[in-house]
Amino acid sequence: MTTKNPNFSENMLSVEEARDNILNMMSVLDTVYLPLSDCLGHVLSKNISSIIDVPPWNNSAMDGFAVIANNTQGSSDSNPVKLKVIDSVYAGDMPNLKVSPNTAIRIMTGAPIPDGANAVVPFEQTNEIQQQLNPKQLNTIDILKPVKENDYIRFRGEDIKSGDSIFTKGTILRPSEIGVLATLGFKEIPVIRKPKIAIISTGNELTTIGETIQPGKIYDANTYSIASSVEKYGGKPVILGIAKDNEESLNKLLDKALDCDILVTSAGVSKGDYDIVKNILSQRGNMEFWSVNMKPAKPIAFGWINKTHNEKLPLLGLPGNPVSAMVAFEQFVRPSILKLKGYTNLDKPTIHATLKDTIKNEDGRRMYIRVLVKKEGVDYYAEATGNQGSHVLTSMAKANGLAICPENVLQIDSGQKIEVQMIDWHVDDL
Ligand code: AMP
Ligand code: MG
Repeated sequence: MTTKNPNFSENMLSVEEARDNILNMMSVLDTVYLPLSDCLGHVLSKNISSIIDVPPWNNSAMDGFAVIANNTQGSSDSNPVKLKVIDSVYAGDMPNLKVSPNTAIRIMTGAPIPDGANAVVPFEQTNEIQQQLNPKQLNTIDILKPVKENDYIRFRGEDIKSGDSIFTKGTILRPSEIGVLATLGFKEIPVIRKPKIAIISTGNELTTIGETIQPGKIYDANTYSIASSVEKYGGKPVILGIAKDNEESLNKLLDKALDCDILVTSAGVSKGDYDIVKNILSQRGNMEFWSVNMKPAKPIAFGWINKTHNEKLPLLGLPGNPVSAMVAFEQFVRPSILKLKGYTNLDKPTIHATLKDTIKNEDGRRMYIRVLVKKEGVDYYAEATGNQGSHVLTSMAKANGLAICPENVLQIDSGQKIEVQMIDWHVDDL
């Protein structure tokens, strides 16, 4: 690893300073009641307690026979105990009869334990399968192995008791929490609402997909990579389209962003640009423009547009190059969305991997290198995905992580460890 002394020729913010400035403007959104099936990834905004027991009654953990445990003592393959089968009970039904000494009730998994019984003998410990009888003709059953009291019974309230606190405010709802809430019968859940993220691409060269491309023009990639990143992190993308490099065009689209929670723009923030984004935002609110000590995505615009009633619409102006826009999204827009949604851990998960290439960091900025991380044995290895130009979006498509070369580290050699922000794992690992 080769390092140099800090020597910032420009007044650059660190990634962390830029991120803190941005996050200071974000506060947790309001509560809505959503149908349970729409709650994935949302954060609970109230504590939840149960008003029922789970399971609601003692029930069978196996398909078998509800018995009195004492009656099965001494049974074996060679010396079975014969019990009289007096009834059957299925999941969803209630037992009709009581188990009395030397009788059994055929019972299915999940069915309520009949009164009188204190254990279940699974089919595998009886001659049920050998008999291959129609259950209705089953008059007696051979018990081949004894059970103890309580065997194969799932008890009322074993998982959850009525009155138990289940989830506290701030809990992130994953499929397992959603399953628990369904178990408890909750239909609508108080959660922090989904942020609406307005997206505007700027540039005279941009053409919307579906339109015929003219000489000098390119398709607008950023709208779509940004909108799908918004969705990935649980926001609602509001695609407002392409603004030309003139004030009138951008102003028109800005008006449509005012009912959103964040506005994300791309392009028009680098030096030598038309500076439209910066100008308009200074007129309609406040615009700060930073050089952030990172590569790619050095130029970032941040500020707000005044809405009515003293409200402000935060604006994140990402660079235009498609990789820069995505890398800046991960560092600044992702944590903003998560903070609005009520998440408290806003850091992207990282791992440590062994580098397969030597990385050179000529100007000593914090560098995010597109890598493909693979696990070999117990270790992770990271390999750069080719041309690291910030216009080469296919090298982002080949990557599943961003390896971080710290500031002032000019080289990391192949074979050394490097921290990698995982953008995602392989889709087939999900
Ligand atoms: P700018 O930040 O406006 O200087 O743009 C930097 C580079 O990114 C230029 O090559 C632009 O053509 C390109 N670019 C800007 N916006 C987009 C977009 N929405 N999709 C694809 N490329 C873009
Ligand atoms: Mg431009």
